Amino acid sequence: MISNKIIKYILLNFGDRVYNVDLNKIIYRRLDKYLLEEKILTKEEIMDLWSKLFEVSNETISFFDINRSTIEKVGLNWIEHYKVIPFNETPKKVSVIISDPFDVEPICLIEKLYNKQVEVYCDNLIEIQQLINLLSVNNNFEHNLDKKKVEKILDSIIISACNHNVSDLHFDIKNNKGQLFFRKDGILFKFMDFDLSLYNKIINKIKLESNLDITLTNKPLDGYWHYIRGKNKIDIRVSMIPTIDGERVVLRLLNYQSKNKSLKELGFTNKQYQDIISCLNGGGIIFLTGPTGSGKTTTLYSILEFIKNHNKNIMTVEDPIEKKVEGISQIPLNSLDYSEILKNIIRQDPDVIMIGEIRDSETAQMAIKLAQTGHLVLTTIHSKDSLGVLLRLENLGLKRYLIHDTIKLIISQRLIRNKCNSCHGISSDNCKDCFGTGYSGRKMIAEVIKIDNVIKEFLEKDNYKDLILKYKQEDLFKNVCKPLLENNNILYEELIQLGLTD
Ligand SMILES: [Zn+2]
Repeated sequence: MISNKIIKYILLNFGDRVYNVDLNKIIYRRLDKYLLEEKILTKEEIMDLWSKLFEVSNETISFFDINRSTIEKVGLNWIEHYKVIPFNETPKKVSVIISDPFDVEPICLIEKLYNKQVEVYCDNLIEIQQLINLLSVNNNFEHNLDKKKVEKILDSIIISACNHNVSDLHFDIKNNKGQLFFRKDGILFKFMDFDLSLYNKIINKIKLESNLDITLTNKPLDGYWHYIRGKNKIDIRVSMIPTIDGERVVLRLLNYQSKNKSLKELGFTNKQYQDIISCLNGGGIIFLTGPTGSGKTTTLYSILEFIKNHNKNIMTVEDPIEKKVEGISQIPLNSLDYSEILKNIIRQDPDVIMIGEIRDSETAQMAIKLAQTGHLVLTTIHSKDSLGVLLRLENLGLKRYLIHDTIKLIISQRLIRNKCNSCHGISSDNCKDCFGTGYSGRKMIAEVIKIDNVIKEFLEKDNYKDLILKYKQEDLFKNVCKPLLENNNILYEELIQLGLTD
């Protein structure tokens, strides 16, 4: 027992100082204060005593590390009172998070109750309170949830999401229960359950924060939430859709992950970077392609940020606007379509125009027209790979010579998962960085094709097939993936999964 250990230690080392002190008195009091006040030990001696009695770890404990059955032994009232969480146990040990390891009373209580050695983890009180807020949800601890409490729970959820580098939060109802999933590195995993009344309170709170009408429950809604709590400032895009079970809500954390990444930092190779910036002057079109969620928008914004330094009138048409950028005129699509807005934009005398996506022939024609009249146009388009963009444009009814005249650059990109640095991809269930997946974080990889004279020659001869064959040999695998593999940054399994092997 810790209390016995303490007494034994003090008797052995400082027996002469404590012969008329009732040592049992100190067990449930602040030990450090008591020993200091009574001038039994000095501060240094207390620190020394502590380091000999406990192994204190500074490793951060997250919500995922908490074992529910361990908690049930003390209950949430106890946890809320002491702000101490016994979060896991083995046959011999119980692990505890505490903000102040000198607070001996709860540690002694836990040792007695679990009858095990205590392993101490330290975290600050704010983090511990966040965990307690989240625990109170899962245990239906709070039955009469007032507004303040709902706000606290939602804060804890959002902060946890940020701490785990989560990109999206999915609130959903299944089997009469609210559920929350996090998407991290492209994969969804469950974060927690709610009872329905709390679920609805949370959804209402989100609606209020993002200026949505809480009385509308039978219509899809889109909104923004400018989340500000202390130092945390996050733009959140809110999407709500009614399902047969209730409202389903997705929050996308917009500026949190890809914060301040410049074009140079995005992950293009040196040559690719040079190719891109060499195409940013004068008119013409730059196409971006890649699956949904492959970071195309991030790349577009980084290019715009790069151009922005050159004093130009930059305008964007987007659906929806994913990120507000200072110094750029951003136009939301709302109920109009791209071609309608583009027709009007021309009178605004833009130099650079970003079109969120080319989906139809009319928009494609407009984009070409803008490029022909000396504007730089940036846009995304759906296509299997980079050269597939040419075929796609043809399918949209564009004449080949118009395509060849205006196209400057094609970037085809996707995200690839990094090998987890902590467990080196040997997915162990104990790995906190990757939750046992073996992957942690993602990087962008891209194929960048600058339409130079060599390619133009192919295009002019209408020789698409040969062109595609020629560029297949210099593809993503050889130029980008292979070096990453050789440097041990990625796993071969991931390449197989993405179909990127040679
Ligand atoms: Zn790992």
